Amino acid sequence: MADEIVKPDLTFAKEVIKSGGESLKKCYQCSTCTVVCNLTPDKAPFPRKEMLYAQWGIKEKLFKNPDIWLCHHCGDCTAYCPRGAKPGEVLGAVRKLMIKNYSPPSFLAKWVSEPKYLLLIFLIPLLLFFGEMAILGYFSGVEIPRDENGEMSYVAFLPAVPWIDGPFMLIAAFAIICFYYGVKRYWLDLTSGMEIKRKDIYGCIYETVKDILLHKKFQLCSVNKGRYSAHMLVFYSFIGLAITTSIAFFYEWVLQWESPYPQTNIVKIIGNISGIALIIGILLVIANRAKNAVKQGMGSYFDWLLITIIAVVGITGFLAELLRLAEVETLGYASYIAHLVFVFALFAYAPHSKMAHMVYRATAMVFARAAMREQSIKQEEAA
Ligand code: SF4
Ligand code: SF4
Repeated sequence: MADEIVKPDLTFAKEVIKSGGESLKKCYQCSTCTVVCNLTPDKAPFPRKEMLYAQWGIKEKLFKNPDIWLCHHCGDCTAYCPRGAKPGEVLGAVRKLMIKNYSPPSFLAKWVSEPKYLLLIFLIPLLLFFGEMAILGYFSGVEIPRDENGEMSYVAFLPAVPWIDGPFMLIAAFAIICFYYGVKRYWLDLTSGMEIKRKDIYGCIYETVKDILLHKKFQLCSVNKGRYSAHMLVFYSFIGLAITTSIAFFYEWVLQWESPYPQTNIVKIIGNISGIALIIGILLVIANRAKNAVKQGMGSYFDWLLITIIAVVGITGFLAELLRLAEVETLGYASYIAHLVFVFALFAYAPHSKMAHMVYRATAMVFARAAMREQSIKQEEAA
């Protein structure tokens, strides 16, 4: 077998440390983490080897194998590591660097991963919506219109076309383009590091989608069992909100029927249930993290930014609706603008924030199936 020349890159190792992997150097390669991880395949298991690659700064070895994303950050390894090296957190830091590496433009990943840019990322959408309000004359004495029944209405305040649909369609297109380029580059790197053995990619996609919908991997976490239900609630509430948005879009563009819709309408029912599920789910995520912080680590700024954005999206959305029903104008409009600002941040920065995990992890899972990397897990499940 030919000897492999390892080229350490200490700059990259330092980047991992700076990105949330502070405990990286404590690892002494005992392999306890690999033994306790319920998600790793038997062959070339993780995360011990990834700890070694990260200590030496071997970026290619980390980026070109799908294992970094096969880890679901359950924290079992961190809880059992005898050295407190927190492998779960180190892998989280590597994932953050991967997002920065693959999702263009990289300056946006820098903005969402460093606290010094926190104000800037919210200032952009805030100025956008304030700009719209200024154009409509709300800062120069124009009275905010009401709907045809004389009731307070956010559609009358900022009509969907062009003030809401315009910017949100643009950021949706932007996010799709960034994800497209990011995933394309990631897939090319994966295929250069490991061979594809299955030819039925659609079969791999189908199995991965089924896995994700059932949250099969989360069920395997043993230390933090509550993580499964919390993530499941947030995940399905997002699906519910996506259905709500699609129905509202259909009403508006096809039926030419503008909101507000009656509380008994299907769009309201699905939206309200999903909104409540989102708030409960994200509060459970926060409670779980706090409860298991000592064992598993509290998570990085990058993790908490997304958690906070989702929590504020849920709370301001609900608050805005309640204040509208109660006709509390100033607070209602303020909550609505805050809601729009956070929804903007959620979607515009999705390819660069932790939100990108849904796309990169799904890609890695499909690839792992195609490369038969998850074969042993599949065999265990079938047994
Ligand atoms: S991270 Fe901890 S458990 Fe894993 S090999 Fe290093 S010291 Fe051992
Ligand atoms: S965090 Fe969980 S899934 Fe990730 S390597 Fe550790 S034990 Fe495995």
